Amino acid sequence: MNIKSAAFKISNTDYKLCPEDGKPEFAFIGRSNVGKSSLINMLTQQKSLAKTSGTPGKTQLINHFEINNEWYLVDLPGYGYAKVSKKARTVFEEFIAAYLINRNPLLNTFVLLDSRLPPQKIDLEFMSWCGEKQIPFSMIFTKIDKLSSSELQKNLAAYKKEMLKYWESLPPIFTTSSESKFGREKVLNYIEEILKTV
Ligand code: GDP
Repeated sequence: MNIKSAAFKISNTDYKLCPEDGKPEFAFIGRSNVGKSSLINMLTQQKSLAKTSGTPGKTQLINHFEINNEWYLVDLPGYGYAKVSKKARTVFEEFIAAYLINRNPLLNTFVLLDSRLPPQKIDLEFMSWCGEKQIPFSMIFTKIDKLSSSELQKNLAAYKKEMLKYWESLPPIFTTSSESKFGREKVLNYIEEILKTV
């Protein structure tokens, strides 16, 4: 897929206030600092469409970006902050959950995982929750330029093994680097394939 245009549309904390034009949506979510903003900017070839934030918990909004006047790329807040209060965190999780559960145009959620880390409880729990709620998702491993290919294979294998304890089959898995743009075509082509089915 060629990205011809990418523009910010709207931010909010209520899925009911998201655009009502029915365009299909693809959401991106992950722990803060996983490389979500960098990936969104890499995919859309924009320097700062998504704000790369050094401060965990700063961008707690559902952000819609309109791509090619055809679909929305949805930047969801990072989950699992250590630095926000328990109350703020609960509210924050509820509105993301409400969006993921109720948002009809949402076709797929990309769960971002740091390729340098062993399987993380919070990510596994989030994906299990998606499974329970029947929210379709794919896994994107980020920052693969930061490790050797053998380390990457080892970490991917550990993740797959852990997932297969709970799942009969694995979701689509992508490996990416916002530095080298590795994985860009594969992710965009995957989105394009799903768009063809609607
Ligand atoms: P977010 O909080 O998930 O939006 O993460 P950011 O996109 O702000 O990235 C967090 C940090 O990781 C920043 O310092 C980025 O420069 C760095 N980063 C993100 N993606 C990559 C990548 O693919 N390769 C490398 N080497 N660094 C990355």
